[in-house]
Amino acid sequence: MDYYGSQMGKLIEQLSSLPGIGGKTAQRLAFHIIRMPKERVEQLTSAILDARNNIRYCKVCCTLTDQEVCPICSNPQRDHKTIMVVENTRDLAAYEKTGKYEGLYHVLHGAISPMLGIGPGDIRLKELMQRLQGDVDEVIIATNSSLEGETTAMYISKLIKPTGIRVSRIASGVPVGGDLECIDEVTLLRALEGRIDL
Ligand code: ZN
Repeated sequence: MDYYGSQMGKLIEQLSSLPGIGGKTAQRLAFHIIRMPKERVEQLTSAILDARNNIRYCKVCCTLTDQEVCPICSNPQRDHKTIMVVENTRDLAAYEKTGKYEGLYHVLHGAISPMLGIGPGDIRLKELMQRLQGDVDEVIIATNSSLEGETTAMYISKLIKPTGIRVSRIASGVPVGGDLECIDEVTLLRALEGRIDL
């Protein structure tokens, strides 16, 4: 990479360290960036810095937000008695895009995976259980249909059952091993509507 000079090489190296960005894409992006007007580059870098500095976990649902309580949790129009449990903020975004889900969410930031050594204590389960002390009618488990997602769903339903709160699992319209964020909105809605009690 030295033939570009060390600063260009450094930029390419930084970009290629991002997930999903291979060497070629990193080069293309680097050349694009150096051709961009300087103020656009400043907007880009400050957006990255601002996001990194200000984004944190919502105090209630653990999603990523720049406020103490995210806009979904602080919206009085939403149904605060229904909580949909998802693995990550991207899955939350997928359900939000359907515009049909009125309840709140709980973001686990992962799934239980004995293979990878990820246990119940490594995801945001304690926070979920704390929320259930309040007024909650139903917990909809919308973890992925991967082995990890199913393991997590089983674990959570066993925890919640004794509380008497209704626990349901989104229907299997979502293909096995399917990542929620890659699935179209119609399929997501069908999975939600066809959810089954656990
Ligand atoms: Zn929230």
